[in-house]
Amino acid sequence: MTERKVRVRFAPSPTGALHIGGVRTALYNYLFAKKHGGDFILRIEDTDQGRFVPGAEEYIIESLKWVGIEPNEGIGFGDGPFAPYRQSDRKPMYKNYVDQLINDGYAYYAFDTAEELDAMRDRLKASNVDSKYDAITRTTMINSLTLPEDETKRRLENGDAYVVRIKLPRKEEVKFHDEIRGWVTVNTSTMDDKVLFKSDGMPTYHMANIVDDYSMQITHVIRGEEWLPSAPLHVLLYRYLGWEAVMPKFAHLPLLLKPDGNGKLSKRDGDKLGFPVFPLEWKDPNSGEISSGYKQSGYLPEAVVNLLAFLGWNPGTHQELFTKEELAEAFTLDRVSKHGAKFDQNKAKWYNQQYIRKVDNSVLALELEKQLANYNIKAEKQYLEQVCALVKEKISFIKELWDYSNYFFVEPTVYDETVIKKRWNEKSPLVINDLIELLRNVSNFDHANIEAAYNQALERNEVANKDFLQMFRVCLSGVAGGPPIFEMAALFGKESTITRLENALSRIK
Ligand code: GLU
Repeated sequence: MTERKVRVRFAPSPTGALHIGGVRTALYNYLFAKKHGGDFILRIEDTDQGRFVPGAEEYIIESLKWVGIEPNEGIGFGDGPFAPYRQSDRKPMYKNYVDQLINDGYAYYAFDTAEELDAMRDRLKASNVDSKYDAITRTTMINSLTLPEDETKRRLENGDAYVVRIKLPRKEEVKFHDEIRGWVTVNTSTMDDKVLFKSDGMPTYHMANIVDDYSMQITHVIRGEEWLPSAPLHVLLYRYLGWEAVMPKFAHLPLLLKPDGNGKLSKRDGDKLGFPVFPLEWKDPNSGEISSGYKQSGYLPEAVVNLLAFLGWNPGTHQELFTKEELAEAFTLDRVSKHGAKFDQNKAKWYNQQYIRKVDNSVLALELEKQLANYNIKAEKQYLEQVCALVKEKISFIKELWDYSNYFFVEPTVYDETVIKKRWNEKSPLVINDLIELLRNVSNFDHANIEAAYNQALERNEVANKDFLQMFRVCLSGVAGGPPIFEMAALFGKESTITRLENALSRIK
């Protein structure tokens, strides 16, 4: 068979906000498609209308746009040749295939009521048997296998409610290859006759998923581990429908775990663990509850892409920073881990920090300008850019710009107590006085000349640099940490630097 063009899909159900794990699934699909010059499709799987949540579909689209992993076909991204891409809009396309399965003896009608199904389950439980509708149980239930043919026909013509179930063999090994886990074998004796279709004309997830993957010529199914138990059923459906030759390859991604590794990172964890589990802020339409999003929490989309890529995959080298293009180049399914990936909040912050360093100073300056407006502070564009250049290495989030740079705009009135206690002594005022005098005579107020004056003041008073440097910083900024000190003073300028020293001298006791 000739190689088919790679076509992958992200197929979320619009049952709420897209979990960050879902974004990772979308990302791996995107990277795989890019790597192989293939197509990446967004398909909305909304066959379970009872679980439909308004706004969820729009949320999924917005999220993918924000992280920049845009499908080239599908809902919200333009119709390709396989439209429509929403399963409820494809409703008429499934029935023929269901009929085909029934005619070929691979599926059957079942008419059991909810009470009858409950009674069956209770009965089986009482005798300690797995309560499932399977090759044995179905012989005792009300279905087209146990009813006379004309009775089935009569019920169907009468419009009685029914479901169509797959007819699984009693004991047969189903074997398939998973690109991440290797060979997987499951015996049909552990499976049940899943419902494929209902009399309201709607297929279930399993049926719609297979028909759509086949019709949309999907070559690789890359999805979360929670779907691994469904894969044997899907393999059988491909076989029974005669599509085994074009069955996609399967790759089940590892779970995203809570930071302590104790269980799956779930939607309900929300903000409880101190970090968002959703890409964008989400307001639950039923409860009105708001959950934070990566975007609103100040993460950059490039950082989110990079950190998600590493939750379950690694390049096999020490490189940690990758652009999307580099990821697409490096990404292979055989480097995806079988084991759950623990979410690490510090690592997530670290990634954000790395990407903030890459943001242009002029862009950061605009953000800082907005933050300054909250305090009615205005500053020259050039000054703002220089401040951003100095403090950007210190921040993990852009919203922290003001916290780390306020002393560039407001001269300090309070000074770090710990540093004063440790470093302020009878020589301190002498050094500062000398320094003020020396700085007054500096004509080119750059960091090298400031440093020279500072060293001279220390020498005159026989004070060691290590005993005074931090005190110098605190006199200028009020706080113990910050950007390179002489560059900081250069940016304050001569006048402000001297004023700051004079203020410190009169205030620190
Ligand atoms: N609709 C399924 C979900 O919500 C998709 C599973 C699959 O990719 O096959 O995750």
